Amino acid sequence: MSEERIYINKLVNYKNKEVVIKGWVNAHRNQGKMVFLDFRDITGIVQGIILPGSQAIELGQSLKAEYVVQVKGRVNERPEKQKKEGILNGDIELEVLEIKVLNTVEVLPFQINDTSLVDENLRLQYRYLDLRSERLQKNIKNRSKLLKFVRDFLYQEGFFEIETPLMSAPTPEGSRSFVVPSRVWPGNFFSLPQSPQQYKQLLMVAGFEKYFQFAKCMRDEDPRGDRQPEFTQLDLEMSFVTKEEVMALNEKLLIELIKNNYPEKKIQQIPFPCISYQAAMEQYGNDKPDIREDKNDPNLLAFLWVTDFPMFEKVDADNNIDGVAEWTYTHNPFSRPKDEFMADFMAQKNIGNILTTQYDITLNGFEIGGGSLRNHKSEALKKTFEIMGYDEARIESNFGHMLRALEFGAPPHGGIAWGFDRLLMILENEPNIREVIPFAKTSEGKDVMMNAPCDISEKQKQELKITILKDDKKNKL
Ligand code: ASP
Repeated sequence: MSEERIYINKLVNYKNKEVVIKGWVNAHRNQGKMVFLDFRDITGIVQGIILPGSQAIELGQSLKAEYVVQVKGRVNERPEKQKKEGILNGDIELEVLEIKVLNTVEVLPFQINDTSLVDENLRLQYRYLDLRSERLQKNIKNRSKLLKFVRDFLYQEGFFEIETPLMSAPTPEGSRSFVVPSRVWPGNFFSLPQSPQQYKQLLMVAGFEKYFQFAKCMRDEDPRGDRQPEFTQLDLEMSFVTKEEVMALNEKLLIELIKNNYPEKKIQQIPFPCISYQAAMEQYGNDKPDIREDKNDPNLLAFLWVTDFPMFEKVDADNNIDGVAEWTYTHNPFSRPKDEFMADFMAQKNIGNILTTQYDITLNGFEIGGGSLRNHKSEALKKTFEIMGYDEARIESNFGHMLRALEFGAPPHGGIAWGFDRLLMILENEPNIREVIPFAKTSEGKDVMMNAPCDISEKQKQELKITILKDDKKNKL
């Protein structure tokens, strides 16, 4: 058997011809003298049949689901009454002539397409098997399609896709960073980004004007709800834009993405409605209300912009690590206030009343993205930190590089980041983001397939000059 491989979705072009396919046994039904076998490759499934008397019958009978095989067969039209309309290869079947087993299968930890009662951690431990299921094949293929769609759209709009470092310096933001010890500089640490916020702004200073990236973001937070320690944002930033322009571009992208990739879905209202934070709190009691007219319709998408958030909020006494700050930012320390509040902001007056240019985009009750215009003048950015009670030395050591960059002709700019996994989760009608992430961590934030996080060897610790405090040993996974 050395003939060229034909993909299963192309078999229909080979009626009455002999072909070779390669793939997996998807299902196996032994009917005594005859054997029915479904074969699967990345393009689809075809029904195979081994007729009585075939030289392949004995081997065929011994096959099991998920065996990897190379099959020579003849593409036959199915008898009229066995034809199935509307499914791939519904009118043909493969009469198996020869089978070569390329690999066998141990006892599977679960049935590939029947995992509703299987413990999720077992699915994640054997993720490569789970990923063979129809459900996850669909989700991950659609994820790939959306990545391409967004890329093509943004390239068309004149954006540049620019990668920013994963190894960087810690940013003192709300959530916690993962740190990476350096062997070459013992006792020093890199930090993994919670978002490329600073880099994308520096790209605006660098004059790129339209940037985007599918950015891996990492946050070492306590496992909470449907969060992953590592997730993907569609991150973008633009120079010389108004808030309305950023929102309009994102709205157009979302509408086209849905029309082209999910034609069965209906967007409740175009242009997307917009509500102020205050009105959302008054009307719905939260800032990401689900405004769907029919919450039982799985194809209804209700987008909603939320704007006019307060820029600062009082620091909750329990979380006031520094004990100095009275105020903290609500969303992003780099956001700019709305123009009409700029004077108060610069004068540090009426702080609780200052509204920011922040805009969040919500979908069916989930926040799927957020962004803002930024303070592009050094003295304005500095003001945010002063309002937060930071002294000169702290501002300089944490944000000196940003303040400096803004002193060298930084254009006005703004941007947004989408939670790409969450958007996909909603579009795929999945209950959590793990179902749309190829290699997801468990809800406790562990990688149970690779066994991470985990201890490292004594030799590595010595090289890194790291000692583990005894008390923390009990926390080892
Ligand atoms: N970087 C922000 C975030 O991760 C989003 C933005 O303002 O662009 O939430």
